[in-house]
Amino acid sequence: MKITDVTLKMFLWDGFDPVVYGPTVRSTATSSEMGLVEISTDEGISGYSFLGASYSSAKADAQRFVDVIRPLLIGENPLERERLHKRMWARHRAATVRALSAADVALWDLAGRAANMPIHALLGTYRHSIPAYISSPAHSAPEHYGEEALSWKERGVTAYKLHVPSPWQCDIEACRAVRRAVGEGYALMLDASWSYDYPTALKVGRALEELGFLWYEDPLGEWEIPNYVKLKQKLDIPLMATELPFAGLETYSVWLTAQATDYLRGGVAFKGGITNAIKTAHLAEAFGMNYEIHHGTNSINNVANLHVAMAIRNCDYFEVVVPEKNNKYGLVQDLEIDRNGLVHAPMGPGLGVEIDFAHIERKKLAVLR
Ligand SMILES: [Mg+2]
Repeated sequence: MKITDVTLKMFLWDGFDPVVYGPTVRSTATSSEMGLVEISTDEGISGYSFLGASYSSAKADAQRFVDVIRPLLIGENPLERERLHKRMWARHRAATVRALSAADVALWDLAGRAANMPIHALLGTYRHSIPAYISSPAHSAPEHYGEEALSWKERGVTAYKLHVPSPWQCDIEACRAVRRAVGEGYALMLDASWSYDYPTALKVGRALEELGFLWYEDPLGEWEIPNYVKLKQKLDIPLMATELPFAGLETYSVWLTAQATDYLRGGVAFKGGITNAIKTAHLAEAFGMNYEIHHGTNSINNVANLHVAMAIRNCDYFEVVVPEKNNKYGLVQDLEIDRNGLVHAPMGPGLGVEIDFAHIERKKLAVLR
C-alpha cells in the first residue's frame, strides 16, 4: 500500500462562545478554522484526523503541515507507522508537534480501516469503557463551580475537575464550594494551569489535602522541576505534571529521574499522536505510575485518546471538557457519557466514529495540498 495524496481541508467551526480555562487558555473567539486531514492510498483506503480547536485555529499549523509533513508521507507505506513517526519527528521543530500529531492519528485511523479493526484492538484492547470526568471552564464565582459539579453528578458522572481563574484565595474558595455541593467521597481534581509560584502552590496544595482532592494538576510552570520536587516532598496529595510542553517522549525522563510528579500526563494532540501516547503510557507503567490522558482539543483527537485509554490499564479517567459546544464538532455522533458516568469504546474500524463529511463540505474554506 502506498500513500498517494495528503490533503488538509480547511473548514469553519462557528457558533460557540468565548471561554476561559484559566490563565493559559483565554479565548474571545466565537469561530475557528479547523483542518480535516485525509491521507489517501492506492488501495482506496483513507485515514482521517482533525487539526485545530475551538480556542486555537488550525491556520497556525496548516501551512507547516502542508510544507513539512505532507512531502514526508507521499509515496510511503502508511502501515509503517513507527518509521514514518521517526521520519516526521526528525522535522518536528519545523512541522509543529500539533501538525505531526494529526498526521499520526490519521495513519492509525488508516491502519484500523485497512485491518477492519478499531484502533484499540490494533493496540491490544484492555477494556471497553472508562469513567469520565467533567473538566470545567473558569467560572466567575465559587458557587458556579458547585452548581456545575452537582448537575453532572446528578447525570451520573463520578468525577469533576476545576480549571480556576486565580487569585489563589478564590481558587481555594471554588474548591470548597464544589466539595460542599457534591459531598464527601466524590472524586475532585484541581487544574491550576501552571499559574502559581512555589509558596502559593504549597498553600493551595494543603487546602486540597484537607478537602480530600484526588490530584493536583500543573500548579507550577512546566519547567520548574526543582520546585515540583520540593512540593512533592511536602505534600501528600498526588501531583500531576507533564501535560506541557508540546514535545515528545524524551521530555518525560527528567521528571521520572527527579521524582518530580506522581503521574505522567499527555495525549495525542500535544505529544506526537497515538504512537507517543502509547509509549508514554507504557513508560509510566514501568514506574508504577498512571498515565492520565489529557483531552484532545477536538472531537477526533478525543476519540483517538479514548482508543489509547481502552488499550492501557494505567489510566483511571477520561477527560471531558465543557462547555460541549466549544469541544464537540464535526462528527455525526460524538462521544457521550452514559448514565453510569462511563464513556464506551468505539467498535467500528479505525477511529470507529462517523465523520460528518457533508457538514464539513458545507463549511469548507479551502483544500490545501
Ligand atoms: Mg490540564
